[in-house]
Amino acid sequence: MKPRVAIFDFASCEGCELQIANLEEQVADLVQAVDIVSFREVMKEHSGACDIAFIEGSIQRPMDEERIKKIRANAKVLVALGDCACTGCVNKMRNELPVDDALRAVYGNADVRGNELFDLSQSRAIDEVVNVDFYIRGCPVRKEQVLYYVQRFFGMPPQKNLDLRFGINARGMDDDRRSIVNFDPNKCIMCRRCEVVCNEALDVHAIAVANKGFASIMTTPFDIGMDNNKCISCGQCLVNCPVGAYSEVSEVDKTLKLLEDRSNYVVFVIDPIALTSCMDSLPTDETNFGIVVRKLISALKAMKAKEVVDFTQFTYLSIAAQGEYIQNHRDAAFTSWCPSASTYLEKFYPQYAKFMHKESSPENIMLKVLRKRHEVENLKIVFVTPCIVHKSNGAFDAVLTSRELPRLLATKEMRLDFHPHLGVTFDCDLGMIQKFVSGGVSDYTYSLMILKAAYLSKFKNLDAALTIGSREDFIHELTFDSELGVFNALVIEDMSKLRKYLGEDIAKYNVIEFYPCFRGCLTGGGQCLTTSEDEVNRRRARLKSYKGEMESPYEFVSQLISVYDKVKGGI
Ligand code: SF4
Ligand code: SF4
Ligand code: SF4
Repeated sequence: MKPRVAIFDFASCEGCELQIANLEEQVADLVQAVDIVSFREVMKEHSGACDIAFIEGSIQRPMDEERIKKIRANAKVLVALGDCACTGCVNKMRNELPVDDALRAVYGNADVRGNELFDLSQSRAIDEVVNVDFYIRGCPVRKEQVLYYVQRFFGMPPQKNLDLRFGINARGMDDDRRSIVNFDPNKCIMCRRCEVVCNEALDVHAIAVANKGFASIMTTPFDIGMDNNKCISCGQCLVNCPVGAYSEVSEVDKTLKLLEDRSNYVVFVIDPIALTSCMDSLPTDETNFGIVVRKLISALKAMKAKEVVDFTQFTYLSIAAQGEYIQNHRDAAFTSWCPSASTYLEKFYPQYAKFMHKESSPENIMLKVLRKRHEVENLKIVFVTPCIVHKSNGAFDAVLTSRELPRLLATKEMRLDFHPHLGVTFDCDLGMIQKFVSGGVSDYTYSLMILKAAYLSKFKNLDAALTIGSREDFIHELTFDSELGVFNALVIEDMSKLRKYLGEDIAKYNVIEFYPCFRGCLTGGGQCLTTSEDEVNRRRARLKSYKGEMESPYEFVSQLISVYDKVKGGI
């Protein structure tokens, strides 16, 4: 049986329904794929029960309320179609007026009292009356948006980056390639997810919709481009776009060229966090994460990489360096592991940028260590990272995201299964145990480790009282307290709350950590699309299976301080 789709209207201009009626050449495909069981604007037949109900318009009267409740009871999925349904839109302007004044303004002195058609209550959005499963914003919506939802419900895995075009004629708009995040408006279905992420979840407000109807487009104010605006290059719009309208500047060809030039000494630096998300796309049947990592090292060597290095150890050194820094600077110190967080401070709070010790960021330490080790002109560093923002760092010769690494292997038809893993390890091993899972993937680990490193290198013991408090959801305060001194950290995992805390007296914190990606780098802007919380947990489990659980933070931090003391002359 074909899925049943119904379109119902309430108070509206019917412009959104007209978009569906205007599907024209797609109607034949649509009718083949689904049964349209109710659509007052174009057909007489009507049936109540359906799989998806698209609702246009807002709720005005008790009779509307009764009707929408029946529709909800009979529909498996209910989609609010257009701004009147999603927010109440212009209909809600009437709420400012007494009902009698509003009726008189429209119907003059006609006596409509007692007629239920004119029995107006407050105008409400659909979700003020019943549960809504999905929202399609727009005034009117675009027909591609409707097609996307119908196709998504009935034939496609939800939330997968589908790169759909639906066979709809391109809108003839030019791609925007001015930033490391490219945008193809012809693919955009105006779901406005990117806008919600950037504005409401991150409070960055770099992008928004401009124009109306067919001309509507996601853009920056006055079309000045993301880099000239407030964008912090976190890539969260990219990984949250359901249809692949955003993409990164690809550096696959650039990497191939670096490898093909035999005079180059190409070093791949791999952040294992990046591999946790692309493991399913890597060309192998192997399921053990550690074995896949080792096979990948072999495969990259077969592609003429001279060395393959684990990025995590530079994160460790960064912890020791930042611990040392906060001992000597009693001002607030922002952690510098997230380049988008640095960009945020520079753009929004330039007065605080001086509190970010960028010199001790993991990537700066990595560059210094590698350049010191290989004092060769033709050293070329390719960074495989979960973080798209590194693409704007000219110090790297190429930056590959989790999405690009499988593409690189595919160009050479590399299958990892044919490459050995026994006895294979990363190069440039600085001698640190690999038990710390970094990158914001477990609760406040980075700040906590910096505090411990600061404390331990100063006092040579960890007999301080550690207090971890939550000021509100996703905001943590850590305190190390003893007779010898106090260190405080503030960890902000929810960027929408950042301004509130940065407005406070931040001088009382020795460490302030925040990052835009919702589960840290596990869901970074360079990662493969995150389809669910289960997927995040799968990535975290892969990393832990590889790095192991930390048994003794004391042992870990002491070890990294002693390695740091040995190598810091070189950094
Ligand atoms: S990259 Fe981040 S800051 Fe820039 S537009 Fe996208 S979500 Fe907003
Ligand atoms: S998330 Fe993608 S499809 Fe949705 S509005 Fe943004 S660019 Fe368009
Ligand atoms: S949280 Fe991680 S992935 Fe996201 S922007 Fe920061 S460093 Fe990059």
